[in-house]
Amino acid sequence: MKKSFMTEAINLKNYPLNDNDSIVVMFSKTKGLMRAVAKGVKRPKSKLGARVQMFIANQLMLFEGKNLDTIAQAQSVNTFSKIRNDLDKLSYSMYVAELVNNFCSNDYNKDENYPEIYDLIYATYEKIAMANTKEEVIFATLKFQIKLMNFLGWGLDFEYCSKCQKNMESDLTQSCFYSYSLGSFLCLECGDNVNGIRIHNKIRLFLAELSKVDYKEKTKYDELVNFAVLEKCFLFMKKYIDNLSNKKTKIFEVLDKTLIEA
Ligand SMILES: [Zn+2]
Repeated sequence: MKKSFMTEAINLKNYPLNDNDSIVVMFSKTKGLMRAVAKGVKRPKSKLGARVQMFIANQLMLFEGKNLDTIAQAQSVNTFSKIRNDLDKLSYSMYVAELVNNFCSNDYNKDENYPEIYDLIYATYEKIAMANTKEEVIFATLKFQIKLMNFLGWGLDFEYCSKCQKNMESDLTQSCFYSYSLGSFLCLECGDNVNGIRIHNKIRLFLAELSKVDYKEKTKYDELVNFAVLEKCFLFMKKYIDNLSNKKTKIFEVLDKTLIEA
């Protein structure tokens, strides 16, 4: 008899295996990033078909396979349905899925904390689904970027100068430097000799605060930030993350192109 196991997982994407079956890429609470076969989902009356759509969290029963496991049963835990009727929510959710797919693994040696990352993805999709404005969608995604990198050991140090190791000034009228080539912040003195961009301390301290608090926790900046600041921070983190891997996130490029061509 085939060995079975249970897990809770969030779908990140799926692609066809043949005329009837699909492969679902998902993040499992106990196994990390995984792929599994969903049989018969292309048939019009398939119950499983609806449950293997992107961004749905399911309680699953799977059969272990030689190469790929097969989904035997799926019970949805949260469909995050409000993501699917808004283009902004959809594209930022796809970006989240892409980051998880690019950076996470199912390699136990890497010592990743799967339940913690699972809860982060779940909380992010919940926040995006319930968002009332694009600003809230970007804020949810920005927090996700920072938290995911922290969990994976790629977190940015927002407080200390990477050259002299001194705690950088918290003067809100001042700025500091950031170097994309070094991937780190520098104080005003050290940054002078480095090819970097100037970042206002207000921005750096806002990101530092997001890095410290739990995902769902409010910060003292929540009511103060505006759309322009959030978008700037999101793009800053996106560039930092893109520079970490050779798999650049494609979602926003693709989307820009589709909108232009449409
Ligand atoms: Zn310094």
